[in-house]
This record gives sequence, structure tokens and C-alpha cells, in this order.
Amino acid sequence: MSKNDFNDVQIGTKAVWAGEKESLVHGATQVPVVVSVAYGYDDMDEWYDVAIGKKAGHIYGRNTNPTVQAFEQKIQILEGAEAATSFSTGMAAISNTLYTFLRPGDRIVSIKDTYGGTNKIFTEFLPQLNIEVALCNTGDHEAIEAEVEKGCKILYLETPTNPTVKITDIERMAKAGKAVGALVVVDNTFATPINQSPLQLGADLVIHSATKFLGGHADALGGVVCGDKKLVEQIYHYREINGATMDPWAAYLILRGMKTLKLRVEQQAKNAMAIANYLQQQELVEAVFYPGLETHVHHEIAKKQMRGFGGMLSFALKGGMDAVRILLPKLKYANRAANLGAVETTYGPARTTSHVECTPEERAAMGIPDGLVRISAGIEDTDDLIADMEQAFAYLAEQVLVSSKK
Ligand SMILES: *Cc1c(COP(=O)(O)O)cnc(C)c1O
Repeated sequence: MSKNDFNDVQIGTKAVWAGEKESLVHGATQVPVVVSVAYGYDDMDEWYDVAIGKKAGHIYGRNTNPTVQAFEQKIQILEGAEAATSFSTGMAAISNTLYTFLRPGDRIVSIKDTYGGTNKIFTEFLPQLNIEVALCNTGDHEAIEAEVEKGCKILYLETPTNPTVKITDIERMAKAGKAVGALVVVDNTFATPINQSPLQLGADLVIHSATKFLGGHADALGGVVCGDKKLVEQIYHYREINGATMDPWAAYLILRGMKTLKLRVEQQAKNAMAIANYLQQQELVEAVFYPGLETHVHHEIAKKQMRGFGGMLSFALKGGMDAVRILLPKLKYANRAANLGAVETTYGPARTTSHVECTPEERAAMGIPDGLVRISAGIEDTDDLIADMEQAFAYLAEQVLVSSKK
């Protein structure tokens, strides 16, 4: 039987069914959590054939695992990729991918607004290896093209970005990257495969922090890279030796979470849009960033390359962190935490979440005001989230009035 590539069904069906069948045993309908570190063979020749990759199977947990493999196959199919390889965290997926391909003397082009950890690799670790990093203003497509034209090994993009949800035109950038023979890598964590397919837009590799929307329940860390088989094999080799392997329990939790990915992402986008509209009408709000808003600088690009605008948004309050200190603790249906993409609505100031690694000056250079708050919309009922904001904003308005009278 040929392997089912699920070409004839839509993405929600793929999210439920894809990648699981090969890992099922005992007639169970659910993928088992295989915790075995090693796999035994009585037949020395069979063992050898599996070890050298001539025959399918598993040898040792740092290399491959059936539960982890089911997760890899599901995301591979959702991204429409030839292959996928997974990692212990999203940062491991990003760093291992970069270290697989970059050598001293190489050059990489990216944007200033990448995830804080990614930005640290660009500003701290790659320069130590004598790798030149050119970081462009996010959304300045001409500047990125100009840097790419000078030549580079990798063009690294993230869209939408963290936390001001800026959008980069993947198709246009992929063309520029291809023209100089660069590998085009896209962090698709915010969009998810439900809303955006970077490989179909011309990217070579797509990366996820599976910790976020893919898992969706904030209870497991993971990362993954999808793309061309030859490229993914090289990244897999780097990972199997360097050891940032995904844990089978994490793989199981993320795999289970992914079955509801489409439902979650749709509700999160609906809630994000409603929250963005609500915030835009608030006197005490300085700015709202959501690609679904017509006022968003990159709304048109988002409309072109995304199937939905996602669950991430951010806003700045008049009064900066002082106002944030009053507003956030008043919210009843919100976690104030560093993660995102979970079923619970989650709030966090950028300076303590996505960009805690950066200095205030670095954040300012990225256009991140000190009081910027990131929201990851959850799957709660929309009206309840708005009512929650209403009572919190009413309290903030009261406090502002009190302090102005003092
Ligand atoms: C969280 C995140 C990462 C890092 O993922 P971890 O699983 O926390 O290592 C990378 N990119 C984006 C966009 C993220 O949100």
C-alpha cells in the first residue's frame, strides 16, 4: 500500500488523520507513547540494515522514535512538505537549522523583528563564528532585497512577527533569495499551516515552535523543520548527533493537540479580530497591531498570502507600563504568561515575554514600545473575552481619573 499523502482532503481532515497510521499497534486507534530508549534485534543482519537505513525501523531514541515520527509526518503533510524533522524546542529547530548550513565567512540576511531568541542567535552567537548577519527593518522589502542581492547563504524570515505582527511578502522574498542561491527559511509559528503555507509561496524550509499553536495546550515543548528531503536529511543528521531530540511524551501531547488545530486557530482568529476591534475604540489605547485590521500597515500582504489573520495581536496603552500594571491584573479570563498559541487567552508585555532577552535600546530599535502588550487570543467565547476587557478598561479609566485628580 502506498503511503497516504492526504492530497484529496482539506487541511482540517489532515490535521485529524495524517501521519498516525504507521505508528498504530494492537488495533489501537491512538498513537502509543513509545518510551523505549533502544530497540532490540535478534537478527544481526536486520539490525545492521536498520542501522544503515536500508530497512525502516528504530535503533536508538536520540535518532528516531515512533511517537515522534507520527508527529513529524502529521506536520509534514500539513505543510505540504517532502520531509520533516523534529526538535526538543522551537529554538533548537531554529539554531540547528542555522548551524547545519552556516559556516565561518558566510552571510545571512534577516529582519529585526524575529523572535527574541532568534534575534539573540543573530546578534550574539553567529557573529562569534564569523558569520555576517544583516538585519533589515521588518516590512522594508526593498532593503531586504538589496541585502540579499549582495549575496547570502540564508534568507531567514518570520511572518507575522512577534510582537507587532508585521508581515513580510514571502513570495517576493523567496524570489529574491532564489536569485542568489540562498536558502529561504520561514518561521511559520504565528500563522500555523492552517493560515499560511510558506513552501507553496517559494520558501525552502518552514520552521515551527510546536510549543505554541501546534500543541495548543501549553503543556509540551517542541520544534520542527519541514521542507525538501535533501535539506531535511542534513538538518536531521545535525540534530541526531548534537542531540536536541523531541521527547516522546511531548510528541504525543503535540500530536493530540494538532487534531484540533483548525478549530482552535479559527476561533482564535475570530477572538483576535473582535479584541482588535474593541481595542481600537478605546480612548486609553495608543495603538493596536493586528494584520486583520484594514489600518494595519501590511494588511494587503496578509490578505494575499494568509488564509486567516491568526490569533496574535498587540497593543500599546497610553501611559505605558504604569497603565499596563493596572490593566493586566484585572483580567479574569487571561493568563499573564510568556507563552502563546494556547487555548487560554494569554497576555504579556513584550519586555517580559518575546523580547526579554533584548535591552530596552534593542527593543526601541525594533519599534517595540516599553508598554506594548502581546495578546494570544484563546478559544473562549468571544463575548466573554470582550466583557472581561470592558470591566478591566473601566477600572483602568477610573484609576486614571483618580490619579489625574491628585
Ligand atoms: C516561541 C517561539 C520560538 C521558540 O520556540 P520554543 O519552543 O520556545 O523554543 C520561535 N519562534 C517563534 C515565532 C516563537 O513564538
